[in-house]
Amino acid sequence: MKNFVITPAKQATAVIKNSNDLFPVRRIYCIGRNYADHAIEMGHDPDREPPFFFQKNPNNVDFSGEFSYPPKTSNVHHEMELVVALKSGGVNISIDDALEHVYGYALGLDMTRRDLQGEMKKMGRPWEIGKSFEQSAPMGPIIPVSEIGHPEAGIINLTVNGELRQQGDLNQMIWKVAEMISYLSEYYELAAGDLIMSGTPAGVGPVVKGDVMVGAIEGIGELVVTVV
Ligand code: MN
Repeated sequence: MKNFVITPAKQATAVIKNSNDLFPVRRIYCIGRNYADHAIEMGHDPDREPPFFFQKNPNNVDFSGEFSYPPKTSNVHHEMELVVALKSGGVNISIDDALEHVYGYALGLDMTRRDLQGEMKKMGRPWEIGKSFEQSAPMGPIIPVSEIGHPEAGIINLTVNGELRQQGDLNQMIWKVAEMISYLSEYYELAAGDLIMSGTPAGVGPVVKGDVMVGAIEGIGELVVTVV
């Protein structure tokens, strides 16, 4: 057996509700503009254009309940999302078979350096610097499908310091979970451990140090994250 020349990075993991077992995170795919009212607030046509995706890094997931305000920005936004966790994958997965690959669901925040993302958009450059940074994916525990099934409807919202900022319903997703899995699998080989952040409803906005974000999805639970 060969040895590593440096210590290998720790496997990124996600927590599972009511369990000491861990979910190994392999990749994080995020869909853009998947709720019509959010597409409109970002200045885009809400019509059903083909979906588009970006990625966060597996070790951007964070379960600490704290979000450290990141460097080089003065406009960090919350995006409250349903996270899909895959237990298997493949290529060219049909929409009919897609949900068989889901291990469970969780609440997550796609934290975004909106100012940096905006600059990159303007220049036609990649979004990573706005989307993929330390702790940019605060999450709650994954709840297995065996416990909650496949949620297709239910209020998704986010308050900041008790004030309602984001609200929508899972049934407003332009691209449904099965469609996202199927579409992604045409471009990538999906695999066990992949997470998909399924987009955010309208009402995204900035947070500052000391803010307490409380995200909730009906039937799934609550995610509390303090900005530090
Ligand atoms: Mn998002």
